Amino acid sequence: MAEETLFTKIINRELPADIIYEDEHCIAINDIAPKAPTHLLVIPKKPIPRLVDATDEDAALLGHLMLAASKIARQAGVEDAFRLIVNNGAEVGQTVFHLHLHILAGKKFSESQLGF
Ligand code: 5GP
Repeated sequence: MAEETLFTKIINRELPADIIYEDEHCIAINDIAPKAPTHLLVIPKKPIPRLVDATDEDAALLGHLMLAASKIARQAGVEDAFRLIVNNGAEVGQTVFHLHLHILAGKKFSESQLGF
């Protein structure tokens, strides 16, 4: 069996994390090394390694993650201004190979560069 990802261990409570939201399909946690005053991660319970590994079967799950991100942003009080980021591949900064959405808010982002 494939080894559990870091995020699966967090989902299964085998590792500690600040879980601020949970439903049937995903959790949200505070990022351990925040790049903005609000930096949350929305993580599907299904351990899809990268966005490109998702298939048509995952369409409903991917939609669910977007709606969950919107709910979580509202819950965090940042619904009027947040950035949603998915890193796909080590070259663009993906370090945990279990799909996740970054919600970043509370600072000014440059308009020309889509990054942290
Ligand atoms: P990536 O670079 O893969 O897009 O994002 C991974 C994120 O997970 C990083 O922002 C990193 O700070 C965060 N992270 C890594 N390990 C942990 C951990 O053990 N707990 C939490 N809460 N966040 C983590």
